[in-house]
Amino acid sequence: MIYETIDFNDKKILVSVINGNQILIDQNQYQKLLVSSLDILKENHMLDNIRELRIYDPNFFKVVYISLHTSSQCNMACTYCFKKMRDKTQMNIVVAKRFVDDIIKLHPNAEKYIVDPTGSGEPLLDLDLICDIGDYCKQKSDEIRKEVLPMLVTNGTLLTSDAVDRLRKAGILFGVSIDGIKKAHDSSRIYYNGLGTHRTILKNIKNIKDRTLLGAAVTLTDSNKDLVQTMKYLNKYFPAISVKPVRSLNGNGGICEDNIKEIKEQYSKLCSFLVKKTLGGDLSYISALLNGDDYLGKFILRIILNQKIQTRCDAGLGRYSLAADRKIYTCPAAIDIKELEIGSLETGIDIQKQQGVWKVLSDRSKCDQCIAKFVCGGECMITSYYAHGKIDEMDSVMCDLKRHLFKLAIKFKYIISSQNECIYRAIMNGCIEKMNRFSEDKELKEALDNPLNHYSFTELKKIKDTSKENFMKLKSVSTTK
Ligand code: SF4
Ligand code: SF4
Repeated sequence: MIYETIDFNDKKILVSVINGNQILIDQNQYQKLLVSSLDILKENHMLDNIRELRIYDPNFFKVVYISLHTSSQCNMACTYCFKKMRDKTQMNIVVAKRFVDDIIKLHPNAEKYIVDPTGSGEPLLDLDLICDIGDYCKQKSDEIRKEVLPMLVTNGTLLTSDAVDRLRKAGILFGVSIDGIKKAHDSSRIYYNGLGTHRTILKNIKNIKDRTLLGAAVTLTDSNKDLVQTMKYLNKYFPAISVKPVRSLNGNGGICEDNIKEIKEQYSKLCSFLVKKTLGGDLSYISALLNGDDYLGKFILRIILNQKIQTRCDAGLGRYSLAADRKIYTCPAAIDIKELEIGSLETGIDIQKQQGVWKVLSDRSKCDQCIAKFVCGGECMITSYYAHGKIDEMDSVMCDLKRHLFKLAIKFKYIISSQNECIYRAIMNGCIEKMNRFSEDKELKEALDNPLNHYSFTELKKIKDTSKENFMKLKSVSTTK
């Protein structure tokens, strides 16, 4: 099959199976296509092959993620948590610094480095270590004159005003795990004594005065399926929202054959809600999803920017995770999965193992006939491992969901672009701005490279973040002197 069709009012959207491109055609054009010519497909680049990278190239990854498994200790016992066994091994700052240095050396041409000390527990249990890591990131940014940005996700129970001040002073960006309204959240996110955590978390969130950079990380399970309700609720507090569906395993209440139909319906309702709000002039909901690392939001962004991805993720290729026992894994969720262990702090990255991961992530022959191939990118190795005991299996339930989200993202694009070009352009600009956040800040680099500049990277960035006007003044003075 060369293309699939999606009904769109009295027209049809054709989606190329070869490269994921789309066109909107009327019934006459469609009939012509059925009986004779493929010209319309050729003219609209629906038959072009996508050039894919065959050999792993570390320079391909412009943003490199360095994850530090600082601890697996946690003060909560979420029902869907993969981590059932916790040990007391803690990482120290010397080890953390060495790993940051090693990975930066491994990817000297990256434009930006993100350091994530979340681990598989609650990072704020050792706030001193987390702040030391934040301080080291600043030091490293000044040394290499590129951004080394610390970012973490906390369960929010320990996010007191003092903790917020310390995190901000150390330059650490943070998001909070919260699953929506109290009832939905407290059914899974509980303390060890079984009590819900929602009240404490919400109190802490409300106490944060400046929430402009605050993100919500939502785990979607059977208990919080009402996505519109979740969005309405969280949009009051968070400018960025990321919803991630969790696959059902051993009765953890995730997505499975029994609830996939309903989950898809909930996503359809969410999409209609987003369309209604967006066309009504309220762009806060769509921005929240685009700003976060949301599943549907990511698909919408890629469809709008016509972005094609070659691998599902950068695990083990541009993303590395150091465990407390000094072993290196492909990503934080891979800790303790032997197949995804790719080295150690002492021996560095095992190139052969890394090549093995590249092969799994880049060989997507199983996705060949899927229209979502270049937007979805393939199955998560962790989902595959926990569902099938292998890192390279497809998961039919998750594929069903992702193809549904892919089609919803396409419909969202065509509805908005056909009904309000101005709003569509604003969303497109938002998507470009989001992408720019994941590449080098050219303006900052220009100012930094100016021979008259006396500021360090972190000083200049602070000036730019707090007052664009002052930054521009400073930039123009140094360039005209
Ligand atoms: S993982 Fe599934 S949904 Fe994603 S591209 Fe492959 S077949 Fe399609
Ligand atoms: S393997 Fe899965 S969990 Fe790990 S980075 Fe890739 S998508 Fe994320």
